[in-house]
Amino acid sequence: MKYDVIIVGAGPGGIFSAYELIKRNPDLKIAVYESGYPLEKRRCPIDGKKVKSCIKCKTCAIMSGFGGAGAFSDGKYNITNDFGGTLHEHIGRVQATELMKYVDEINVTHGGEGTRMFSTAGTRFKKLCLQNKLKLLDASVRHLGTDINYIVLKNIYAELKDKMHFYFQTPVDHIEILDDGYRVHYGDESADCSKCIISVGRSGSKWMETVCRELDIPTKSNRVDIGVRVELPAVIFSHLTDELYESKIVYRTEKFEDNVRTFCMNPNGIVVNENTNGIVTVNGHSYEGEDKQTENTNFALLVAKHFSEPFKDSNGYGESIARLSNMLGGGVIVQRFGDLVRGRRSNAKRIEEGLVVPTLAATPGDLSLVLPKRILDGIIEMIYALDKIAPGTANDDTLLYGVEVKFYNMEVDIDEHLETKYKGLYIIGDGSGVTHSLSHASASGVYVARRISEES
Ligand SMILES: Cc1cc2nc3c(=O)[nH]c(=O)nc-3n(C[C@H](O)[C@H](O)[C@H](O)COP(=O)(O)OP(=O)(O)OC[C@H]3O[C@@H](n4cnc5c(N)ncnc54)[C@H](O)[C@@H]3O)c2cc1C
Repeated sequence: MKYDVIIVGAGPGGIFSAYELIKRNPDLKIAVYESGYPLEKRRCPIDGKKVKSCIKCKTCAIMSGFGGAGAFSDGKYNITNDFGGTLHEHIGRVQATELMKYVDEINVTHGGEGTRMFSTAGTRFKKLCLQNKLKLLDASVRHLGTDINYIVLKNIYAELKDKMHFYFQTPVDHIEILDDGYRVHYGDESADCSKCIISVGRSGSKWMETVCRELDIPTKSNRVDIGVRVELPAVIFSHLTDELYESKIVYRTEKFEDNVRTFCMNPNGIVVNENTNGIVTVNGHSYEGEDKQTENTNFALLVAKHFSEPFKDSNGYGESIARLSNMLGGGVIVQRFGDLVRGRRSNAKRIEEGLVVPTLAATPGDLSLVLPKRILDGIIEMIYALDKIAPGTANDDTLLYGVEVKFYNMEVDIDEHLETKYKGLYIIGDGSGVTHSLSHASASGVYVARRISEES
């Protein structure tokens, strides 16, 4: 079988490449290979009753399948170059922003109409943050919500499925370089193509490393973000979330001068487990539909760790810390802020008596036995700083779930076209290390598709 283009991975990067390619050139023969299931078959077995925590499925339904890691995400499409990736460093700020806006239009016309776009432009919170040593980053954010995000993906799949070949539950094993293109190997079979787009996201990070080693594509890796997910009554943050939905706030710690930042804020949301390569960490999302909303808001507080020579395995460092929490708690650990600052473990009784009802069944424990002092001190400092703009953040009953780790794929050596040293072999989305978000990953897909279309 010979295709014009093979796309590996059906997350936002892969989907938007496919969408744009077929829109611009309906005659192209395209195949999409995806290790996970089609959207409607993606089911995480955790039901809160029979299965309470992660059972480490072979293919994680949260991370893999049509829609990628984004399928059950909160569907927050941030339009900004301030965070979410460094796509602008490759393609320029103006173009990156335009592509993110284009992706937003597609989402809106495929089921996202009626959802809100929030913006930090002109907000009074910028001043309030600065007065309290906090910095509010600039962004516009479309909040689709987990439910609408699912509908958008369903509609896009319906539009694509008859125009190209989708191969689900088909992990690609190797990429072979041919004289006139690429051979993609999966199981005992293979398919050839003239151009190949690899968009394997975070779940494909280990595989991506192997491919780069096999094909001698240079990579570098030096960053991991480590922290906790904070859960508190939604009213404490409602003045911010009602106006901005998600506020990305950065705090520079006094003790170590590290940057701690809020990440992935979910008003009225739920805290969830995340399984990356068998390691259970914490994440969160929220639904647009009111019937599924909770009385809590959750967000992550993360500290970025950059390593210098000779240490190279930043993800390994993050994994080891996550493993510690898995070892002590059998998965994610939860602790009341009051217990943490008093230096005692939380137990089921104290959590039950607290004012915040946890939305994730995690093991009560002691995060100070898991997180390095420098990171923990930074998080505690930031909670007190946030308490000044959202009084109540530092309440004893505020829940902290750990650990949240944001693994960064190693950065693959790609040029301004997101192309490797092999002509026609593109690496995009989170798998390239260049993007870390839905909008940047999607925009990178459109960008590469346009380039391929121009050349076809
Ligand atoms: C719970 C959760 C909530 C999130 N919420 C948000 C949010 O609100 N806003 C935001 O901007 N970002 C969010 N993110 C991050 C966002 O989902 C990712 O940045 C985005 O999905 C990256 O897109 P991608 O296409 O690069 O990779 P992915 O979405 O990871 O897709 C990669 C796909 O490739 C497949 N794959 C991997 N290896 C292979 C292989 N060898 N062969 C074939 N297929 C393979 C995987 O199964 C996967 O489906 C969230 C992530 C999670 C887990």
